[in-house]
Amino acid sequence: MTLIALNAFADNYIWLLHNDHHALVVDPGDSAPVLAWLRAHPGVQLDTILVTHHHADHTGGLVELVALTSAQVFGPALEKMPVPAQGLAQGDHVDWHGLRFDVLEVPGHTLGHIAFWAQMAGQAPLLFPGDTLFSGGCGRLFEGSAGQMLDSLDRLSALPDATRVCCAHEYTLSNLKFALVVEPDNLALQAHWALCSRLRAQDLPTLPVALHTERAINPFLRSRTPSVATSVSRQACLAPDPAPDDVLVFAALRQWKNDFR
Ligand code: ZN
Ligand code: FE
Repeated sequence: MTLIALNAFADNYIWLLHNDHHALVVDPGDSAPVLAWLRAHPGVQLDTILVTHHHADHTGGLVELVALTSAQVFGPALEKMPVPAQGLAQGDHVDWHGLRFDVLEVPGHTLGHIAFWAQMAGQAPLLFPGDTLFSGGCGRLFEGSAGQMLDSLDRLSALPDATRVCCAHEYTLSNLKFALVVEPDNLALQAHWALCSRLRAQDLPTLPVALHTERAINPFLRSRTPSVATSVSRQACLAPDPAPDDVLVFAALRQWKNDFR
């Protein structure tokens, strides 16, 4: 099974998996990069499309891809898709050529947002979190609450350590710039910044990233860690006594990032 990141728009990735015969794509916001790849690989047929949420930069290619291929579309049961799609909810799964994608409901960025996690024979598992989890960051709260997003990220963070996180945007460097302000003394974060800076200088993706790395560097997965919680409380002037609750700290962290330039 081969995993490829197709570039779309300014900073989206459309993830493509194939086994030399069949291909699957996740969140095709644009049909053009997918069709170009398929033309270059005439022996591979696109048969399945997974969608995490309704935003146009994740669904904009669906109409054309469905019209031009035999692909079946799977998307969130709670959101409207531009093409007929099989609706998925927590606990559902999609079977695809020996792979099983488990569906997690991860509200926050949008209310019906779902993520896909797949165990891979002989390879590290894959997570497609859409716009819920980014390397070093998380999605903006367009529809859901901070409490919902924190709960969604907690459940993604509980997946196996080796899980390869296939984020839908290349936001890593700007996220890490903010993370370094939140946690300037985090050595793992400093090392990851150096690594990702080198990758971007060569125009290479910083993704996928291992989930255990994200747990060490991403302030949105670390909002209960004393170094992050203290930094956020200071920035947002949260009263120290009684200690602010987890959701309050997370909401203040998200707000800090929204205002960060
Ligand atoms: Zn989005
Ligand atoms: Fe997006």
